[in-house]
Parts: sequence; structure tokens; C-alpha cells
Amino acid sequence: MIWSKSTLEWTADWRAHDNRGSPYFALAMNYLSTRGQAPAARFCDILLGGLAPDGGLYLPQSYPQIAARLSEWRSLSYADLAFEILSLFIDDIPAEDLRSICRKTYTAETYRYNRPAGQASDITPLTTLEPGLHLLELSNGPTLAFKDMAMQLLGNLFEYALAKRGETINILGATSGDTGSAAEYAMRGKRGVRVFMLSPDGKMSAFQRAQMYSLQDDNIVNIAVRGMFDDAQDIVKAVSNDAAFKARYKIGAVNSINWARVAAQIVYYFKGYFAATDSNEQHVAFCVPSGNFGNICAGHIARMMGLPIARLVLATNENNVLDEFFRTGVYRPRAASETYVTSSPSMDISKASNFERFVFDLVGRDPAKVRELWQQVDRGGSFDLNGTPLLERLPAYGFTSGCSSHADRLQTIREIWRRHGLMVDTHTADGIKVAQHYREVGVPMVVLETAQAVKFSETIVEALGREPGRPAELAGIEALPQRVVVMDADVDQVKALIETSCT
Ligand SMILES: *Cc1c(COP(=O)(O)O)cnc(C)c1O
Repeated sequence: MIWSKSTLEWTADWRAHDNRGSPYFALAMNYLSTRGQAPAARFCDILLGGLAPDGGLYLPQSYPQIAARLSEWRSLSYADLAFEILSLFIDDIPAEDLRSICRKTYTAETYRYNRPAGQASDITPLTTLEPGLHLLELSNGPTLAFKDMAMQLLGNLFEYALAKRGETINILGATSGDTGSAAEYAMRGKRGVRVFMLSPDGKMSAFQRAQMYSLQDDNIVNIAVRGMFDDAQDIVKAVSNDAAFKARYKIGAVNSINWARVAAQIVYYFKGYFAATDSNEQHVAFCVPSGNFGNICAGHIARMMGLPIARLVLATNENNVLDEFFRTGVYRPRAASETYVTSSPSMDISKASNFERFVFDLVGRDPAKVRELWQQVDRGGSFDLNGTPLLERLPAYGFTSGCSSHADRLQTIREIWRRHGLMVDTHTADGIKVAQHYREVGVPMVVLETAQAVKFSETIVEALGREPGRPAELAGIEALPQRVVVMDADVDQVKALIETSCT
């Protein structure tokens, strides 16, 4: 394990404080940009923003070391574990307030769509497929995908922070499915928050459309754009690039580079570790179906904090930018025209927006080095670690990777159904396929389940010849009245809609 110098120094500080009996968040937690040219910031300052002003991503100045606290944490409820972990990263919200935000977020009621009946109090139940191979269920929240794990917290943090500051925000986003619905269900009814969510007209599944468009909350505005996802994304960029408009209408985002989302995701690596082991001497492996590197970035941080993770197995679909990096040392983002549309669409990426966070650690937290590498990436190029000392450092971080194809997904879905009577979704199937390859004797392999099968039923029908089941409560949501504005892919029309909604 390679620790950056600052981590070691900070660990020493930490112990000194602990020994004096001070509260362990006595040291101010500052956030740094991976590009090193933005002022250090506190958690609440970066909560509502996106990129750092220098174009980098925020990370804590160092990772708190927690090995000594594992025993104490093993028996905590999800909400209380979330509080313990998040309070190491959030020191500008009073502890009592943060605890009640965690308790309000991680309830059995919100994460109620769990598969094994009778485990309703488990926010993230662990299902054992066979000895040594487990699924950590992260998709029991309102939109049936793992993004609810972090987004629900974000909704409550936003409402809290905005109320404190007497501010409001208009969240503008583009979605091809999972992110937009998770954001809407997290922000619905929240004071001070309005959501304008663009989606490509007619391109999402009937179930996904129903999830989003059936929301009747006044603060949720669905906009279906005649075009593709990229057209919707371009409109969001154009609006955000209009600095005057952005400031006037307080336009914000909740995309996957948001630090609070990454922080919230750290918690379930701990929960999964405790569920898959019975002593803190054991190590586990996690396999993570990956797109923008947000989910697995949280696993990397959990490991840097001292959680005994032997391996982080990164699974991609045919869009194998990240698998290629971990196999070859070459990071080569693709052009949009080189990106495949697959049956695990939430992993269809051309570049991985959170990957820069990992590279910052890999280069020993040297922002000049990150700037140098991303100078090429931001110009549409690539970088190659071969022939540099960085390639030798890579194995210490515990990553391995693999990729999966449509045929692999179908086969995995069939095999899991035949052998275990479980329907897994296409993304989780990518994870299981890659995980099988990296199993080691004595190291439990925990595959993160990122969505429920019903969200991607077309492929389930193709694999199994039958429709996936769904929570009884969601039967027939396709027939509910829908609220959506359909418009051309035109920036001015979207701006006009925001203006009229805000007056
Ligand atoms: C978002 C998403 C992913 C990819 O997660 P990243 O954090 O972008 O790596 C995988 N599976 C599903 C179902 C998702 O919604």
C-alpha cells in the first residue's frame, strides 16, 4: 500500500488528537482540487457546486484512517454507520444535525423494495449466491438503482444547507434514465430546490419514463427533448456556460462528480464488508459495474481509509475505456461516435468523469502531474503510463478489471436464474460475469447490485422469455398520468421555460 505523505502526516495528527481525547473531527477537513489551482474549500461550500473553479474535482485533503474503529462500527445500523463515516468528511454541519439527516435518509421505508421479504430493516441486504460469492443489494430505493443510496442523502443535505443560507437552487440535468430519476425522487418536495430534467424524447424504457414523468410535485419539471441524450446534454452545457443566466437563476447540478455522492457511497462498502465477514482480520473483494467511476471511486477511498479490501474488480461493458486502462496503462477516452449503445446503458460512457480522482492519488497527489495528463485528455487525447514509474505503483491500489458483452450478459442472467432463481439486471450481470473470473479462495467476492431487473426488462425477456417481477406498489405505473413538456432541442426554449417557472 502506498500512502501519500500527507496521509501519513495526517494519520499521525489524528492519533495525537485521539490520544488527547478530542473529538475526532477537531481538525478542519478541507477539500482540494485535483488540479491544485482552486482555493481549499469546506464541505458545505462544495456540496452545491460541481467542478472546482480550476476545472478539477474536489477531494478531501487526506483520508481519515479507520482501522481501529472497525469493531465499534461492525454492529451499527446503516444510518448510524453513515453518520460515523460521513462525520469524518463533514465537519461544518453540527454533529447532531448530521446524525438526524442520516437517520431521516436511511430508513427501511425509503429503501423498501428489497427482494428477500422479511429483511425490511436492512438497507443493503447481502444475498449469498454460493459460498464466497455475494450480491450487495443497493437498488432497494425509490428508483430501483444504486444511485438512490447517495442521491437521497444529497436531497436532504441540499434542503438543510439551502435553508441555513436562505438560498434556493435550480438543478438542471440531462439523463438517459437512472441519474435523472434518482435526482427527481431525491429532490421532490424539497424546499428551496427545483429540478429541470432533460431526457431524450421516446428513448427511455416505458418504465423509466413512467418513473420520472408520473411525478406530480410542483418542484419537478420534466422536459423531453426531440433528439438524443447528447442533444439534451449539449443544452445543459450551453445553459451552464451562460454565466449571467446561471448566476441569475442559480443553476446547479447533481452529476456524478459531486463529492457528496462519492462520500455517501463509501458507507456501503463498509456495510458490505461487515455483512460478508465475521472478523476484522478478513479481507474481501468487491466487483463494481462501472461507468463514470463514481461507485468504485468510493471503494478506492474506503480501501485508502483502511477497510480490508483485497481487490477492487472493475467491470465494464463493451465501452471498456476503464478496463483498457487497468489492463494496459493507457487511458484513451473515446469519441461519442466510438461509444456503443448497449443493453447495460448506464455504463455506456466515452470517458469516466470521476477517474481523475483516482489518478490524483496515483500520482502522489501532485496536481501539476494531473494537469499535465488532463491537458491531453481535455483536448480529446489520451495518456500512457507505460515507461513511467506510475505503472509500477498501480498494483498497490488493488484494482483488476474485465469487460462483458451482450452475449455474456444474457448468459449470466440465465445462469443466475437457473441456479439461484434470482433475476439480476444487465449491469449487475456484467459485474457477476467479471467477478467469476477473479474469485480467490478465502476471499469473499461481493458484487455490487446496481439496479433491479425490471428497469431493463427488454433484455430480461430476451434472456429468459419472461417479464421480470416488480414491487407490487409499482404495478401499473406506466398507466399513471404523466407530466412532461416536449420540445425541440433548443437552448432558448429551455431557458424560457426556466424563466417562466421561476417567476
Ligand atoms: C450509474 C450506474 C452505473 C455506473 O456507475 P458509475 O458510478 O458511473 O461507475 C452502473 N449501473 C447502473 C444501474 C447505474 O445506474
